[in-house]
Amino acid sequence: MKKRQWQGDIKCSFCSALESAQHLFFGCSVAKIVWRTLGAVIGTSYVPKTIWQVYSWLYAFLSGFYEIYTVGLAAVCWSIWLTRNRATFEKKIINTLFEIAFTTSAFLNYWAGMQKPEMADNVKKGAQLLKRSAAQMLHLCEPSRAEATEREESEGIWGEW
Ligand SMILES: [Zn+2]
Repeated sequence: MKKRQWQGDIKCSFCSALESAQHLFFGCSVAKIVWRTLGAVIGTSYVPKTIWQVYSWLYAFLSGFYEIYTVGLAAVCWSIWLTRNRATFEKKIINTLFEIAFTTSAFLNYWAGMQKPEMADNVKKGAQLLKRSAAQMLHLCEPSRAEATEREESEGIWGEW
């Protein structure tokens, strides 16, 4: 990344490790939590360590949905990237370690509309399962934060109406 003129701080925005794409999307404990939450949905505690492992990981645990692997991978990486940018440029520290998983779920839900009709429902279902998995883990790991997040969310829904 340095070779490609990576701008600004070369330290990871979430921990003190040196930042690289590999670290940000796979090595960082923040990224591992996202993969772990997704892993809980597809039934594995194994966490992929490279972009290529993501494909074999999905192939092994979510066979038959090949068309949606890329959208899943994109949703995770995009969510990590946006959160990283917010932490880097706006100095917004993430509220909970599961925030990125919730963001991933929201993107999947949104992007479901761009999938082929037969896959759209699967992507939506995946988004829902991911959200539930993140909520469950949040309850287990950070009970007080879970309540606050739920309150914000229900207020958000009422706000829309
Ligand atoms: Zn890190």
